[in-house]
Amino acid sequence: MPKITNEIIIDKAHELGFDLIGFAPAEKLTREVILLKNWLEENRQAGMEYMEHGLDKREDVSLVLPGAKSVISFGVNYYTPYNHENKPDAGKISRYAWGKDYHFLMWEMLKQLEDYLRSRDSSFDAKSYVDTGPVMDRVWAEKAGLGWEGKNGNVISKKFGSWIFLATMITNFEFDYNLPAANSCGTCTACINACPTEAIISEGLIDSNKCISYLTIENKGEIPQQFNGKFNGWLFGCDICQDVCPWNKKFAKETEKSWFKPLRGTELPLDMFEELSNRQFNRLFEDSPIKRARAKGMRRNAEFLKKENVKPKE
Ligand code: SF4
Ligand code: SF4
Repeated sequence: MPKITNEIIIDKAHELGFDLIGFAPAEKLTREVILLKNWLEENRQAGMEYMEHGLDKREDVSLVLPGAKSVISFGVNYYTPYNHENKPDAGKISRYAWGKDYHFLMWEMLKQLEDYLRSRDSSFDAKSYVDTGPVMDRVWAEKAGLGWEGKNGNVISKKFGSWIFLATMITNFEFDYNLPAANSCGTCTACINACPTEAIISEGLIDSNKCISYLTIENKGEIPQQFNGKFNGWLFGCDICQDVCPWNKKFAKETEKSWFKPLRGTELPLDMFEELSNRQFNRLFEDSPIKRARAKGMRRNAEFLKKENVKPKE
C-alpha cells in the first residue's frame, strides 16, 4: 500500500484548510507558453517585467523540480458576505484584499502539508508556490479540474465561483489524475461588456496597461489621464468583471476562515493617505495585501480618484 495517495493528500489538505484539491500530470505547457509569449510580445504585461522571466520553467516544471511527475493544485475560498458601501470620499478595495494577506496563511498550510507528506515517505519531494515563482497556476488549476479560466482571466470553480486563492505544488510522485475543467462561459460576455476600461481584449486575455487592478497595484508610474472618469471609485484593485459573472452570483459561498473578513472595512477614506508616512503605512498594512501598492501607490490612487470626482457605483 503506497504511503501517499490522492486520498491521503486530500484528507490532510482539507484538514489544513484547503477547499479545493486537484491532480494533473506534469506535462509540458507548450501551447500555453506560446500564448504567454504572444501576450508578452504585445506588451500586455505593462510594467510587470517578472512575467517575462522563467518561461522555460513555466513550460517545463521538471526544470523547477527535477523528476517532477505531478502538479497538485489547491484552492482556498475567500468570499465573505460583505459589500462596498460607496461612502463619499472613500475608495473601494478589491475583495481579495479585505482580510489578512493570504500568502502567509497559504505558505504555512503548504509547508505543513509538505512536512506531513515527507514524514510519511522520505522520498517524497515537492516545490510549492502561491503567486510567486515560475508556475502557471491558473493553467494547472484548470488541468487539475478546480475550475476553468473564464473570459475575465480568473479561474471559476463550480463550488465557489472565482473568489478563490490558488496554490500549486509540483511533486515527484504519481497520482490518479482529475479531468481538466470544462469551460462553461458559453456565449456569456458579461465581464467583457462591464469592464469600464475595455481591458479584456479577447477571451481570457487582459491588457494590463488598461486594467484597473494593474494600474492601482503593480503599476509604479502615474495613472494615464485616458482613464479619467472610468475608475468607478476603485482605490485598490477592481472586482467589476468578477462581480458581474453569473457563476459568482450562483456559486459564491461564505468562507469558514475569519482570516478573510474585512480588517479595516471594504473601503478606505481617500484622505488617509495624504499624511501617512511610509513607515506608518507599512505598519498599518503589514498584514494586508494592500501593502503591495506601497504608500506612494496608494497616495497616487487616492489623488487620481479625488480628481476624477466620479461618484463610486457598483
Ligand atoms: S479587473 Fe476591472 S479593469 Fe481589470 S479587466 Fe476586470 S473589470 Fe476590467
Ligand atoms: S462573466 Fe461570463 S464570460 Fe465572463 S468569466 Fe463569467 S461566465 Fe465567463
